[in-house]
Amino acid sequence: VERLRGSRPQQFGPGTLTRIVAVASGKGGVGKSTVTANLAVALAARGLSVGVIDADVHGYSIPALLGTDARPTRVGDMMMPPEAHGVRLVSIGMFVEGNRSVSWRGPMLHRTLQQFLADVWWGDLDVLLIDMPPGTGDVAISLGQLLPHAEVLVVTTPQRAAADVAERAAEVADQTGQTVLGVVENMAGLAQPDGTVLELFGAGGGEEAARRLGVPLLARIPLSVALREGGDAGAPVVSGEPTDPAAVAIAGLAASL
Ligand code: ADP
Repeated sequence: VERLRGSRPQQFGPGTLTRIVAVASGKGGVGKSTVTANLAVALAARGLSVGVIDADVHGYSIPALLGTDARPTRVGDMMMPPEAHGVRLVSIGMFVEGNRSVSWRGPMLHRTLQQFLADVWWGDLDVLLIDMPPGTGDVAISLGQLLPHAEVLVVTTPQRAAADVAERAAEVADQTGQTVLGVVENMAGLAQPDGTVLELFGAGGGEEAARRLGVPLLARIPLSVALREGGDAGAPVVSGEPTDPAAVAIAGLAASL
């Protein structure tokens, strides 16, 4: 335990060798958690050592997306995170009973996030992904304070109106000195059997958000039944059906980071 504890201060301090990427969105339901889980598995498939913190307090879903209900095990006063699909993970959902909702106030959220960073034995991670709650709430501000050197990926849909809210999420990152890596457009066109593409949620929202933020559009992930089914089954599409167009787009995103 003393040896583990010794690795604590530098776990994710300013000199850390771990790349910390917060996945943010302006609003819920844009596929932020689905993208985070699949991106984590895709990065692990590239041979990287990957951890995920599920900090989406009200919509924690990373354990289900990765098909696990395991909890961290205690070693002294450290926690060893469970591993699923080659990814180490902790979630707020692991610390509430059953499927209860979480109604914590800011300071408690801040402490929990701090614990996830300091008291979880992550080992040598190449990448730590953080699934943020949607919007610009307490967790985003806490994370900015705790990890000013984190980079931020903004997930949005192709809807033009979504670009406005995505922009607000990125502003919080800017204010705390974090770098916005780029925009990921999710739920882009749905390929039809006749070869045409149905733009269910419109088009251009990702490009618009990227233009306004002055960052690249890093990926366009199409609507995909396989992606959604993989999420429901806890079997990420990037490993289960790697030729699915959504899986290909996420693997491309992993390669570009
Ligand atoms: P968020 O984390 O932004 O709230 P989720 O990742 O929970 O969003 O996704 C919301 C819903 O949309 C889920 O049911 C998920 O399976 C589905 N979904 C996400 N991305 C896609 C996609 N590209 N194609 C089809 N369904 C998707």
